[in-house]
Amino acid sequence: MPEAASGPAVSGPPRLEGVRRIVAVSSAKGGVGKSTVAANLAVALASRGYRVGLADVDIYGPSIPIMFGVSELPHPDAATRLIEPVESCGVRLMSMGFFLDDQAPVVWRGPMAMSATKQFLRGVAWGELDYLIVDLPPGTGDVPLTLAQEIPLDGGIVVTTPQDVALADVTRGAAMLRRVSTPILGVVVNMAGYLCPTCGTRDDLFGTHPAEQIARTIGAPVLAQFPIDARVRETGDAGRPITAADPEHPLSRAYLALAEAVEEALGKLRADLYGAEPVSIDRDDTAGVVRIHWSDAVVTEYTYAGLRGWCPCAVCQGHASQARFVEVEDPRLVGDEGVGRYAVRLHWADGHDTGIYSYGWLREIADFAECRPASSRA
Ligand code: ADP
Repeated sequence: MPEAASGPAVSGPPRLEGVRRIVAVSSAKGGVGKSTVAANLAVALASRGYRVGLADVDIYGPSIPIMFGVSELPHPDAATRLIEPVESCGVRLMSMGFFLDDQAPVVWRGPMAMSATKQFLRGVAWGELDYLIVDLPPGTGDVPLTLAQEIPLDGGIVVTTPQDVALADVTRGAAMLRRVSTPILGVVVNMAGYLCPTCGTRDDLFGTHPAEQIARTIGAPVLAQFPIDARVRETGDAGRPITAADPEHPLSRAYLALAEAVEEALGKLRADLYGAEPVSIDRDDTAGVVRIHWSDAVVTEYTYAGLRGWCPCAVCQGHASQARFVEVEDPRLVGDEGVGRYAVRLHWADGHDTGIYSYGWLREIADFAECRPASSRA
């Protein structure tokens, strides 16, 4: 079994120790529901079984403590001197709001935040996290730029409303993420119409939302559209995001779908990093070998044991930040099926089928023990 350190990294080099993926939630202006989206996305990911942290660096309106009903200040650990996050609704929270003087004029907050941001995320005892959601300040100015430069983000989401100006806003928001080399996972259109709770009629208060136009303009999909619903504000004000307060509510279910879409977008990014996809996947049961021909003319070859050993599923990988090789006696591959345009799901004779191998992952593990890449590369 290879040493963990010699295995492929699950998501590149760890940028914050123990944190596997960092996703920023941004918006070009305030009041569009960015913090609401960040909060509910965090709860939805937690309810899917992930370990989730939420860092609120929205200095102009740090609303996360209110949305999660947290009033006590976090404390530094005497031994490590790291600040312990506060846990609520299954999410580990930290907010700039805990450290900002309410009386400080907004004009001071920028410079204060710029110096604080550098220590903020690294000074927190996040522990092992699958996802850290970062609630950025609105706008496209220095603070979000500085922050994004400090922590290489895995991806960013732009929140907007479907007003006419929103398209210009979303373009600026996307440009800001691009400036700091953060891949855009997609756009969330919030307050997209009003669904009458009595008669079920939909009223598009701000005009129809140009989902396709947005997608075409910034080259990223619309991941979700949420209508205006009084329950969102009520639950947020009462200290529990709707996804935690009312999990059966249609909006809460829509947030679960957003969590899935974010997962998928991150998986697809890994595939895109390679810019190649399998043209054919051939199994040789006698030799116990899988051979993949890729669209960039590379051929990779894997023993069944190697492929099974690097299974990326949560059961096999646990929550370690470094990939784990799982030894299985005489594994036999019995099937494969495509997942979206970014991965294949492998079925093993012992019934194990939770491993979704992104194309990027298949290319990464080809370089490690028990797979046989080098000799078979074109
Ligand atoms: P931002 O972070 O962009 O400034 P917030 O998330 O703080 O915006 O939301 C602003 C206000 O709008 C909050 O009172 C919030 O509860 C409310 N809100 C957000 N999204 C919705 C929605 N879909 N329906 C109803 N109210 C919403």
